[in-house]
Amino acid sequence: MPSLQSYHTFGLSASSQQITPFSDITSFFAARSQYTSNYLLGGGSNTIFLKDFEGQVLINRILGIEHTETAKAHELRVGAGENWHELVATCVKNGWYGLENLALIPGSVGACPIQNIGAYGVEVETFISSVEGVAFSDKAHFELSAQQCQFGYRDSVFKHDLAGETLITHVNFSLPKQNEVVTTYGELAALESPTPDKIFEEVIRIRKAKLPDPAQFGNAGSFFKNPIIENHHYAVLSNKYNDVPGYAVGTDHTKVPAAWLIDKLGFKGRAINGVRCHPTQPLVLTNTGGATGKDLVSLAREIMLSVQGRFSITLEPEVRLVGKEGLIEL
Ligand SMILES: Cc1cc2nc3c(=O)[nH]c(=O)nc-3n(C[C@H](O)[C@H](O)[C@H](O)COP(=O)(O)OP(=O)(O)OC[C@H]3O[C@@H](n4cnc5c(N)ncnc54)[C@H](O)[C@@H]3O)c2cc1C
Repeated sequence: MPSLQSYHTFGLSASSQQITPFSDITSFFAARSQYTSNYLLGGGSNTIFLKDFEGQVLINRILGIEHTETAKAHELRVGAGENWHELVATCVKNGWYGLENLALIPGSVGACPIQNIGAYGVEVETFISSVEGVAFSDKAHFELSAQQCQFGYRDSVFKHDLAGETLITHVNFSLPKQNEVVTTYGELAALESPTPDKIFEEVIRIRKAKLPDPAQFGNAGSFFKNPIIENHHYAVLSNKYNDVPGYAVGTDHTKVPAAWLIDKLGFKGRAINGVRCHPTQPLVLTNTGGATGKDLVSLAREIMLSVQGRFSITLEPEVRLVGKEGLIEL
């Protein structure tokens, strides 16, 4: 049974019956038909294999970056198996700006629309013009406009109506030539005369300083989503805790940083065997060595129960957890 340990950034010890990289649609469907159970993987930075997976893991290696331009924008058609950060670096190097705030996010281009990746004041949906793929049911090609992708906070149609139904083969980006830099995020605001190149370098510097490097401590980035609660619930919380941060979402809701909730409960640095709540960023759970899926589930559930008990907020995992038969819920 081939090991999956190096195929997911959390690095738990797990295996599958077969690991098959593919670089085109024909070989994808040919491999897929050999097993009844299949799991599609990009960079494995949002997926955690908790146990041995009883099926085949298909690794997307569809490559290629095509560039064209109009008077107004740089248009890119990018293979889903391209590395996300490499794409951002290529864009910045060529003066195709917009994606620089999203530097150093691990993973593949094909996964970026699925949870509408975001960081430092920018979400990728701003620059996606369409997403191409094939449906598993009839192998038909589709191209969804950004609007049809129904992007939301760490959300899209690929997590709902189309969840587990499609292979994303290409993502099309439109990077406007007249693009305003975004420096709303605290540390970026301190940049003098910000340019996209400076933002790119600064985001890399901040991320390296703040976030655990998966090569050192296995992790999958933010383990939980930041919960969005109703304004009256937020008012109750802020009466009790005057330091609770909140960011308006539309007129009726407020987004609360999950890291604040977890920190308030004293989880920073707390560990169950090889799984630890990261001491400087409690939203990230790490594998400090020899962790098991059971350790991870125990710590994650303890955090969820405590947050529910103290704040009446249900935390939702941002990561995908895979058990022996496929995706599982916590
Ligand atoms: C250190 C670290 C920092 C991170 N920081 C951020 C951050 O700042 N912002 C952010 O938004 N995310 C962040 N993440 C999460 C992660 O990097 C993103 O979610 C990324 O887009 C996942 O890409 P992937 O290729 O690794 O996905 P995978 O884990 O391989 O797959 C994720 C899901 O997408 C599906 N999938 C993958 N490729 C395809 C495809 N071609 N077609 C259809 N389905 C597919 C998989 O089946 C799976 O369900 C971070 C992760 C880490 C480890």
